[in-house]
Amino acid sequence: MNRKIFYSLVLTAFITMTVYGQQKATPEQPEYYSPAPKVITPGSANFGAPSDAIILFDGKNLDEWEPTRRSASIEKWTLVDGTMLVNKKSGDFQTKRKFKDFQLHIEYRIPSDINGSGQSRGNSGIFMAALPGGSGGYELQVLDNYNNSTYVNGQAGSIYKQNPPMVNACLKPGEWQRYEVVWIAPRFKEDGSIESSARVTVFHNGVLVQNNLVLTGDTPYLGNTEYKKNSPSPIKLQAHGDKSEPISYRNIWLREL
Ligand code: MG
Repeated sequence: MNRKIFYSLVLTAFITMTVYGQQKATPEQPEYYSPAPKVITPGSANFGAPSDAIILFDGKNLDEWEPTRRSASIEKWTLVDGTMLVNKKSGDFQTKRKFKDFQLHIEYRIPSDINGSGQSRGNSGIFMAALPGGSGGYELQVLDNYNNSTYVNGQAGSIYKQNPPMVNACLKPGEWQRYEVVWIAPRFKEDGSIESSARVTVFHNGVLVQNNLVLTGDTPYLGNTEYKKNSPSPIKLQAHGDKSEPISYRNIWLREL
């Protein structure tokens, strides 16, 4: 075999192997084994917390919570029959801990004898991140809209004055209802300007109502929405000033992401 034929055979073999190698994908190619996801124990069917959750309220005490108003004469929210009862006189209540990104489970109940209409019918709210000093924040609305209409971007399941829920998944007043929330906090630059917007996904009573919504800023009752540097932040529950009977909360847990 002369040298020319030898080299052309080597080249042909190389090209064949290269082409064959590219075409011969194996199922194993995209598979990897490390790092392995952490093993946890899922909660029970009654929406109990999984083993890696931070328990914010399990009916035993209010140790994880504090009023946002710092007055010495403040009345706290109260523990009644294993539930946390909103005290409208004392103002909003917030977690002592601060969080950034999380999965939150929370249950609420609007009394069966609720009265009022529009925004004055079982109004409370879950602020995924309170602003400094306990003011404002980003509110997921709590309201009785089982048979009560209001502006749609202010009804239960809405991100207040920004985006209505995809569906109305309200249960009757008197029944326990639940939210599952995935909150990705806004990111800020050193000078306090916004780097990336907040995002939220919400299930109301197991039904998707907000799908990875990008927030335009906070959710004020009055005025323009804007971002204010506030991360990490407490989670805050609203003591709304409407005249209707107070709301109860229970079974609140969170997993940091
Ligand atoms: Mg509200």
